[in-house]
Amino acid sequence: MSGTVSPSFDLNAEGKEKGYLIIGDSTNESGWANFHVPIIKIKNGDGPTVLVLAGNHGDEYEGQFAAAELARELLPDQVHGRVIIIPCLSQTASKAGTRHWPSGVNFNRSFPGDENGAVSDKLAHFISTELFPISDAVVDMHSGGRGMYFIPCSHMIWVSNKSQRSRMISSMISWNTSHHLIFPEQPGTNPASLLPGDAERQGTDLYTTELGGAGVATYETTKIAKDGLSNALRHAGVIPLPPQTRQELGLSAPIFLDMRGSNSYVYAMDAGVYENLIPVGEHVKEGEPVGMIHNMDHPSVKAIEVLARQSGVVGVMRGFPRVTLGDLVAVIGKPYKSIEDLPE
Ligand SMILES: [Zn+2]
Repeated sequence: MSGTVSPSFDLNAEGKEKGYLIIGDSTNESGWANFHVPIIKIKNGDGPTVLVLAGNHGDEYEGQFAAAELARELLPDQVHGRVIIIPCLSQTASKAGTRHWPSGVNFNRSFPGDENGAVSDKLAHFISTELFPISDAVVDMHSGGRGMYFIPCSHMIWVSNKSQRSRMISSMISWNTSHHLIFPEQPGTNPASLLPGDAERQGTDLYTTELGGAGVATYETTKIAKDGLSNALRHAGVIPLPPQTRQELGLSAPIFLDMRGSNSYVYAMDAGVYENLIPVGEHVKEGEPVGMIHNMDHPSVKAIEVLARQSGVVGVMRGFPRVTLGDLVAVIGKPYKSIEDLPE
């Protein structure tokens, strides 16, 4: 057990308990402080362990609502195995309404952590060394935060290991969203520094989402979070009910958006105020404008068109309108009706 993070109850005990991960902290106001991260455990006999995480980024609230509701309502007799829930990983960022912790830390680049580091490092280290090893599956719920708006979706990284990939596809589809986004490894980023990357490295099954964003959690996006989480827990076998498919729910077949090519990603090459011209879910042709950058100091100056670099479906658009050179403003995926049709 890590010396610098302690759960306030026994994670292996039967039944439902709520408490905290208590993390040694030292601030200007309180030299010998304890930082508290709420954690809930529901255990009923032998079976899989599923770790449900939200608030990895502070300003992504849909998953936090879904995880908090699950933590309040799920009872031991509804569980086969164990569910461990941390409804908000990045407490200080969630309170500040920001993606990153006030210290500047991006928690989703903090893995595998450091037990002697800052609070965020200690928390990442505990999750990596104590929680991932006991988890069969990890749920990590994201949305676009203030900066981006995703068509509400579950998604995956297209890993090279085919058996792992097929497990990830099955998990992704179980969220029952209308679209599923397929990403490459993130450029310029060590994949193991991401929470899901570290979980994947340790062999857990993964459920990852982007449930909307743009600084607002709507009824619709929060419902997608709650319904998807519930079905994912069935899919993982920790809620002993058969998972439902979109077909069984009377919904259309999902669309897979392949976002692995570099031309999927559209960046602002000027500073200004960005206007989205194409809604998420709509088709766009290569060379057509997806948005415009306005110069509000000189509104009579013609706005600069930002062009699609490939034909496809807009899966991500800009959230917060002000942009600067190099900001992502849109992601365009090549649509597929069947996951089997995606090229290697
Ligand atoms: Zn996020």
